[in-house]
Amino acid sequence: MRAAMGSRVWFTLLLVAALTSAAAGTQPLQVTVRPGGVARWQGEGVTACAAYGRTWAPLGGTCYFPVDLEATGALTVERLRGNRKETAVLRVGPYPYPEQHLKVDDRKVHLSKQDLERTRREAAEVARLWELHTRPRFTLPLAAPLQAEAKGDNFGARRVFNGEPRSPHSGIDYKVAAGTPVLAVAPGRVVMVGDHFFAGRSVYIDHGGGLISMVFHLSRVTVKEGDDVKAGQVVGKVGATGRATGPHLHLGFRWHGARVDPALLLARSPEFADIRP
Ligand SMILES: [Zn+2]
Repeated sequence: MRAAMGSRVWFTLLLVAALTSAAAGTQPLQVTVRPGGVARWQGEGVTACAAYGRTWAPLGGTCYFPVDLEATGALTVERLRGNRKETAVLRVGPYPYPEQHLKVDDRKVHLSKQDLERTRREAAEVARLWELHTRPRFTLPLAAPLQAEAKGDNFGARRVFNGEPRSPHSGIDYKVAAGTPVLAVAPGRVVMVGDHFFAGRSVYIDHGGGLISMVFHLSRVTVKEGDDVKAGQVVGKVGATGRATGPHLHLGFRWHGARVDPALLLARSPEFADIRP
């Protein structure tokens, strides 16, 4: 009887020890990512990546987890390696994006009831594109959207239009002359050609793998919905349509629904937030 009790205690202790070490072994890895940043999880034998209720195939063996410009707090991400599911936590830290003051036509800041309805309708139409999930047709880094070397800036800027705070800037702006050709950054399919209140004449391209590129404020669009484009193909000309202070190219991305810094996708050695022990 005493011996039986003793072995039961011993067994319980063993069980507790096993559970404790299992819990320590599965403690998820953590990494800090800025809003609009991208976490990268490299490793051998990865077959799937998952976050935000979606699952996708790794890109060149690596899982990339784009973090939306307005994300906050902790995001759980997963990957499948062999038959094992691994979990990591992305901590979205505050990031000091600068404030930018802009002066535009007041009707583009204080919207009429009709314009407000129009922007809501257009936003809903465009949001459907973030759900597209087609075969990946791109590799990183992407190609430049302009022929000549130019630097885009202002991603994440907290924008104040005519003294009123508005949504943060979700792309980068290139200050180039009106009429400059705008190029596709990767192969893909034109999924929308818009003439929208804020974006003006715009082209949305699905590059597969959950990546959509968009170019705004064009004076002219030279492709149509359903067209397949190559990287470097002209899709339109720079202009100042929509809510723009003057001619410039706006380039933005949604990747698995998240608005990410285009600089990360265009740079040769981008600063991804690496998930690693
Ligand atoms: Zn812009």
